[in-house]
Amino acid sequence: MRNKIIYVAGAYYDKTKQGTIKNINIARQMGIEIWNNGATAIVPHDNTYLYEYEKKSITKYDSFIEGDLEIIKQTDALYMLKNWKTSNGAKIEYNFAKKNHIPIITNKRDLKKFIQKKHKRCAFCSKIRTYYKKGFCSKCFNLIKKLKQQHNEEYFKEINKGFVIVPRL
Ligand SMILES: [Zn+2]
Repeated sequence: MRNKIIYVAGAYYDKTKQGTIKNINIARQMGIEIWNNGATAIVPHDNTYLYEYEKKSITKYDSFIEGDLEIIKQTDALYMLKNWKTSNGAKIEYNFAKKNHIPIITNKRDLKKFIQKKHKRCAFCSKIRTYYKKGFCSKCFNLIKKLKQQHNEEYFKEINKGFVIVPRL
């Protein structure tokens, strides 16, 4: 089962188009490796491949970062490419993952271990996170705690039964 989704984070932009293409290729080689090892890779470099050279592309750099963080929220881990420290975007992604307790992988050996390991998943969002409380990831735990304060216990029981639709995290 390819149920682990791993996001590849690393340098994208370069001063030259050729340099950017080189960075994209580094990222997609890692994407191939992740797929070969049995997980599902998200390579943002491929997702918006050379969009900045398209006339129709009105999306700005900050919007791409914003969108990439939305994707990261849905993934089980981040894989940091060796060049990540040269990239402002990758640094933002790294800090975002840290803050949200999303596992961060920095080498191929740990990648294999991560893919093979049977991980515990959050009872609510079913994602793999490095911090759990009572079976929930910190984000879900805090959300549920907040709902509990706002509503009565009965409402909370309904959530557990799946009768209440809780807004997307
Ligand atoms: Zn969760």
